[in-house]
Amino acid sequence: MRGKSFPVRLISILAALVFSGFTLTTRIAGAQGQSITSPESFFGFRMGADRKLARWDKMVEYYKLLERQSPKIKVVDMGPTTMGNPFLALYISSPANLAQLEQLKRINSRLSDPRGVSEPEIRRLVAQGKVVIAQSMGLHSSEVASSQMAPELIYDLVQRTDEETARILDNTVAIMIPCLNPDGEILVIDWYNKYVGTEFEGAGLPVLYHKYVGHDNNRDAFQTNMVESQYMAKILFRDWIPQAYIDHHQMGPYGARIYIPPYAEPIRPHGDPLVWREMSWYGAHIAYKEEEAAMSGVVNAAIYSGWGHFGFHWITPFHNIAGMLTESASARLGSPLYLHPDQLQGGSRGMPEYEAQTTFPNPWPGGWWRMRDIVERQKIAAWATLDLAARNRETALWNAYLKARRQTERGAAGKPAAYVIPAAQHDPLTAAKLVNKLLVQGIEVQQARAEFTHEGKVYGAGSFVAPMAQPKQGVIRYLLGRTLYPDNSYTRDKDGNPIRPYDMATDTMAEFMGVRVDPVDTPVGAEMEKVTASIERAGRVERGASGYVIDGRLNDSFRAVNLLLDKGITIRRVNRAGVAGLRPGDFVVSGGAEALVLDVARQTGVSFSPLASDVTRTSYQLKRLRIGMYQRYYGGNIDEGWTRWLIEQWGFPYKSLMDAEIKAGNLLTKFDVIILPDDRVEMMTGERRGEGAGRGAGSRASEYPPEYRSGFGQEGVAALRAFVEKGGTLVTFAEAGDFAIQKFELPLRNVVANRPSKEFWCPGSTLRVSIDNTNPLAYGMPSEGLAVFLANNQAYEVLPTPHNERVERIVTFAERDILQSGWLLGEDALVRKAAMVSVEFGQGKVALIGFRAQHRAQTHGAFKLVFNALLSGPDSRGTQ
Ligand SMILES: [Zn+2]
Repeated sequence: MRGKSFPVRLISILAALVFSGFTLTTRIAGAQGQSITSPESFFGFRMGADRKLARWDKMVEYYKLLERQSPKIKVVDMGPTTMGNPFLALYISSPANLAQLEQLKRINSRLSDPRGVSEPEIRRLVAQGKVVIAQSMGLHSSEVASSQMAPELIYDLVQRTDEETARILDNTVAIMIPCLNPDGEILVIDWYNKYVGTEFEGAGLPVLYHKYVGHDNNRDAFQTNMVESQYMAKILFRDWIPQAYIDHHQMGPYGARIYIPPYAEPIRPHGDPLVWREMSWYGAHIAYKEEEAAMSGVVNAAIYSGWGHFGFHWITPFHNIAGMLTESASARLGSPLYLHPDQLQGGSRGMPEYEAQTTFPNPWPGGWWRMRDIVERQKIAAWATLDLAARNRETALWNAYLKARRQTERGAAGKPAAYVIPAAQHDPLTAAKLVNKLLVQGIEVQQARAEFTHEGKVYGAGSFVAPMAQPKQGVIRYLLGRTLYPDNSYTRDKDGNPIRPYDMATDTMAEFMGVRVDPVDTPVGAEMEKVTASIERAGRVERGASGYVIDGRLNDSFRAVNLLLDKGITIRRVNRAGVAGLRPGDFVVSGGAEALVLDVARQTGVSFSPLASDVTRTSYQLKRLRIGMYQRYYGGNIDEGWTRWLIEQWGFPYKSLMDAEIKAGNLLTKFDVIILPDDRVEMMTGERRGEGAGRGAGSRASEYPPEYRSGFGQEGVAALRAFVEKGGTLVTFAEAGDFAIQKFELPLRNVVANRPSKEFWCPGSTLRVSIDNTNPLAYGMPSEGLAVFLANNQAYEVLPTPHNERVERIVTFAERDILQSGWLLGEDALVRKAAMVSVEFGQGKVALIGFRAQHRAQTHGAFKLVFNALLSGPDSRGTQ
């Protein structure tokens, strides 16, 4: 409609057509005489109106309409989401800026990495550049308001012609991700609309609001397993490196109305200090604008600590981006919620009471709380961020340069000087994946052409080096270096009890992935070349007299095995060492068309080496197992979702098992292995509805429609027991171990259960373990490694019985110095205890993995413990 204007008469005619499918276009006399459709006229309601939620497909239409109507917005469809919906990034700026977007991107990347750029040149770039501000909405789909707020914010930006708006458009490039999880937006809105007006109105979605990862989509920013995370990484970490990034969320309903930056204590050190000052600067301006607009209940420097998991808003500060969030009090999805004054509470970091304080001068008094209240507060926060940047363009750009330069200088002067990723690795293909994940973060990685010696160690040709003399050294330090969570008065309450970190106490990617990385104190002088594209390895194929052997130590060998089993190829697994130099766990392929083997080697990077002698007597034939995994409602189980994604990626066929199928029994006729993902017993059995499963709404079973109240009950317990007694294998992850211990009365005790936190405390840390890799469940593992251990995880003591031999200890905690990264109190409790056991039960087995071997699909170093449990073992039953 750009450039055209409707006669007023025609509008009244069009108005009559609205209900027959036409869209009413409100005529706004903009500076260029454009007609811009308001969200209210497009969607038929004001954004945030009670019980009205716009669906993502309509929003996509709206943003594309705005692009046709206004030269101030550019819509980029980055590609499909996990479930095939469009993922959009919107660029909003003046028409002149949008016409030279590529040039502005180049200027910004030089300011963000000024190595080799002279200071006069920097001053020229600052004079020409624009402040880049990224904002995202709808990351967490049950937090419905922000993606509803976005159309109105964006409409205001492109439609308003006042001085303030013009200053924003002239001085900034606003990058809006109007919905970071479109799949979940659609799931939640369809669910809400189905039940609005019934007694279940406002209940939480009973399943994960992302096909695989639900709420954990904000725990994926550093490993970028999901495609949505990959789009975000491209914008934030590589293409743009914005000066500020702000992510809009919602929290529980009973505290402040909105949290705005900066963060509370503790913060992670090793970012540039300026980045923390910038967050206070933006936060102060947002707070000021909220009070100017008479918005009550605004708190800053509280609740959300600066040391969180490495989600988008928490990792960005180490990319030298002012990475921030807002968190608004939730209603009941789109429905209002009434709050009594005495229900309003403080009690969180930096906000001990619900009383006026300097960072919370205007407490909200209680009453009805509506989605529109959230939309208004969020919109002010989003706008104020742009307003501050526009008023301080040169300062913001100069700061970008200063942060990058100073971080580079610190990296050059400090220790370690670099991290070396040696070519020699237990699993070199996983090491290549780690390098690729560093590249996704925009980190510079170099590769040695030839062997070199550094600080007394010899590193083979092809070893990688991440030097710290680069702007992103803060990210490198946390992804590759040992990380200890602070234990001090910021992290203990007044009685000395440890305060739980927001999520993990460490996110050390190299430790999670089981990749050896050496910190070195001096810069590596060997001849290096910069890695410019992701490392793709093609496996070599060479046939021997008895076929091929593939290395059981590689995670990707399991993918290769599954691809070959799909084609009906016979595969044997070595279970005795010493013949033809093979290790227990190696795979042997005797038949199979050469073309197929070549294709699998190319797809997986796994090499097929020649096998000279017959190894039939020291190996067994693999049988494909029928795998089932328990899935429940009440918001879904995120660990189940991640596990589903992981085993799909590695090509294991499986079936999700719901309550009815478990209760029906006869499980052994359909399954060989059943997985119980990390969960509480009562959440599986449905005996009692636990807390913390769903978010945003619906905390009691009775709040869900009856068909979504899950639990397999006593019938399910009996069916699972019969399944194992008759020869099935049950695999339990972490807390789900309680199910087998309690319901099957296994001779095990979880020694860290019910201990006071002052005595034992281990929130999201890496712990040193020994692994019995002669056990088929640990084939291919190194003899020592790291286990990712969360607060609710388990350590096993074997209780005495006449048949102690029925328990096998597969992974055990180290004798001393158990903590590698994170936070551990009371390590004595773990010494010599088992982290993973296998217990014979009747004719079957239970494998209990007490820690997180597949944590968020990030713990590549322990994946094989899961994969082995899903392949047949050497015993006669064909299962383990
Ligand atoms: Zn959230």
